[in-house]
Amino acid sequence: MSQVLPGDATLVHDLIGIGFGPSNVAMAIAIREHNAQVADGQEADAQEAVTARFFEQQPRFGWHRGMLIDDATMQVSFLKDLVTLRNPASEFSFLCYLQSKGRLIDFINHKNLFPLRVEFHDYFEWSAAKVDDLVSYGHEVVGVAPVVRDGAVDHLEVTVRSGEGLEVHRARNLVLGTGLRPLLPEGVERGDRVWHNSELLAKVDALEGTSPSRFVVVGAGQSAAENVAYLHRRFPGAEVCAVFTRYGYSPADDSGFANRIFDPAAVDDYFTAPGSVKRRLMDYHGNTNYSVVDIDLIDDLYRQMYREKVLGTERLRFLNVSRLTDVKETPDRVRATVTSLVTGEETLLDADVVVFATGYGSADPLGLLGEVADRCLRDDEGRVRVERDYRIATEPGLPCGIYLQGGTEHTHGITSSLLSNTAIRVGEILESLLDRGLKSASDEARTVADGTGGSAR
Ligand SMILES: Cc1cc2nc3c(=O)[nH]c(=O)nc-3n(C[C@H](O)[C@H](O)[C@H](O)COP(=O)(O)OP(=O)(O)OC[C@H]3O[C@@H](n4cnc5c(N)ncnc54)[C@H](O)[C@@H]3O)c2cc1C
Repeated sequence: MSQVLPGDATLVHDLIGIGFGPSNVAMAIAIREHNAQVADGQEADAQEAVTARFFEQQPRFGWHRGMLIDDATMQVSFLKDLVTLRNPASEFSFLCYLQSKGRLIDFINHKNLFPLRVEFHDYFEWSAAKVDDLVSYGHEVVGVAPVVRDGAVDHLEVTVRSGEGLEVHRARNLVLGTGLRPLLPEGVERGDRVWHNSELLAKVDALEGTSPSRFVVVGAGQSAAENVAYLHRRFPGAEVCAVFTRYGYSPADDSGFANRIFDPAAVDDYFTAPGSVKRRLMDYHGNTNYSVVDIDLIDDLYRQMYREKVLGTERLRFLNVSRLTDVKETPDRVRATVTSLVTGEETLLDADVVVFATGYGSADPLGLLGEVADRCLRDDEGRVRVERDYRIATEPGLPCGIYLQGGTEHTHGITSSLLSNTAIRVGEILESLLDRGLKSASDEARTVADGTGGSAR
């Protein structure tokens, strides 16, 4: 095992954040704004400043970099940025970002609520840079352990792996914002020619100059359609075969009434609703987010397919009501077997690459928590129990708060892993931390072992 470094041995943070994607960047900003108000004496109830540290495994900020296709746009209004719904006057808003880049007036003339994903990534990076004193990049959290005093957990030790070795950091509360994991169908292994769409831009440059002749893209969601359009545009000599079990791409429902499922109030409704109503709501409104495609992109692809039919140069093929049933990689090709669900007929496609745009899933939120997970409560279906304030329900002997950003779809609804509610959610988590009392168990816990004393603030 690597050498264990002491970390900041005497300090017990109020909060350690695991992951520094948009959710925890928003958390860091909420803390920064709260602490500034405390310093200015603006907090009406004389609340305390919060000490926090975030750990991110990537070497620098990155939001789904592998899918930053240059013409792809956001699926959420820019007003649902990291702060605006919580604090419309925040200096961390997308509008302040635009102002700082000298593009505010140009953006307004554009009359568009949905910026390019590349631009929103730049906004996220700009925001993350403004709070980078709170984060350690290149630091992967690999474990959490309880430190018990007088029969109760006093604080948590968080083990972090960096280029230097392992470090141990301490906190009274955690916020997990570790995001989603790419999903491949069972039995499919990634390889040089078998990709998940999350790796698209990291891998595609290597094909430049190789004159690829065929791509197969599996899936019928937004990422699948974006991959089809991108590969078709980028490699004008290649055929692109889209394979999916649906009859055709289905449009995302972003109409006004349906969009209310992403509202802050919808979290209250969903959280309160009985299980059967929760399931019904997901059935009704899953098509606002899952396995659906922006109607403009659907129309573009259809127009392109039809134009090619007319011109007799068909490079876009849609193998609908079909399933990819086998994939075999050889050093210079990959062979995909596609089976029609209508006739059972098999089509063999020799391709340069098969891209699986088969979605993402939540990692088990308790996976990182080691024996702390044993003190977290689960519901009848074995899912982690989460309170309205996003805190995992725990045994009484675990007073530390473990908050989830993501992995709460079963309790808080469809916005769990999305950006729509991020600004509000981090405000609620911060409020919960403050309401529960940062120092609740013992003041001494804020410094440990060596008796140097003094608060970290
Ligand atoms: C291509 C794509 C486009 C999307 N577009 C939209 C959109 O337009 N609108 C929308 O609402 N949602 C969108 N989403 C959904 C997406 O989940 C959110 O946009 C957003 O990424 C959620 O932020 P997050 O911080 O919770 O998770 P992530 O962005 O996934 O960030 C999690 C971070 O945690 C880090 N991490 C994980 N484990 C550890 C560990 N053990 N130690 C340290 N660090 C760790 C990861 O490296 C990562 O940086 C999109 C998703 C994808 C894949």
